Amino acid sequence: MTGTLTIAGLGPGAQVLVTPEVSAALGEATDIVGYIPYVARIAPREGLNLHPTDNRQELERAKHALEMAASGKKVVVVSSGDPGVFAMASAVFEAMEKTPTYQTAEVRVLPGITAMLAAAAKLGAPLGHDFCAINLSDNLKPFEVVEKRLRLAAQAGFAMAFYNPRSKSRPHQFVRVLEILREECEPDRLISFARAVSTPEEVLTTVTLAEARPEMADMRTVVILGNAETRRVGAYVFTPRSHEAS
Ligand code: SAH
Repeated sequence: MTGTLTIAGLGPGAQVLVTPEVSAALGEATDIVGYIPYVARIAPREGLNLHPTDNRQELERAKHALEMAASGKKVVVVSSGDPGVFAMASAVFEAMEKTPTYQTAEVRVLPGITAMLAAAAKLGAPLGHDFCAINLSDNLKPFEVVEKRLRLAAQAGFAMAFYNPRSKSRPHQFVRVLEILREECEPDRLISFARAVSTPEEVLTTVTLAEARPEMADMRTVVILGNAETRRVGAYVFTPRSHEAS
């Protein structure tokens, strides 16, 4: 491979949340590959080729990036948030694994601020004790797996962050998610809906599980469910560091 391949996280939206390391990689790139809205965040400049693609084409996009890097380009694959969280880094490694000539490629993964951490910081500290992150989309796994993980994580007492909570093509699934959570958690459990965090459209809403409505989430929302001890202080939501045995 004569070029370079970098996989970079652009953070949740605000320019100040793009790391200096990622800015430097973007500044040196000849080619940027990624999902249309993420590539749209890159300022065009002389000598930079932008390759925006549809969301469903992750593996093809990864292969294309590897091909361009092999032909001498400085390629940056961009994701929102962190590239290793429900994003392109895994897709690039899967594409590498499938093509023997690429298996020795050098790839740099540059971290970014993932949505749940940007949202948690705005809310206070809802992820201050043990937590897990679940992608609620069934594009890449059966919904039964989502249901099982949700139920077991709730029984284990984890706070949870939900990515891809609700899309127009599968509105019924988040209804089911709330049903399962209501079966497993007490009605006054806090749940926060953080939409478009760090952008001008940001909206943060915290309610109890009993008050939560499916319409509170969309594809630009990350949902954070507290654990049994998560509570409010002033305008903030926090989860204490220690676990009190119940
Ligand atoms: N790699 C990304 C996640 C991609 S999956 C990351 O690390 O953040 C896309 C999902 O991320 C969205 O459906 C939403 O749940 C969440 N998300 C991404 N950016 C967000 C933002 N600015 N505010 C709230 N949620 C966001």
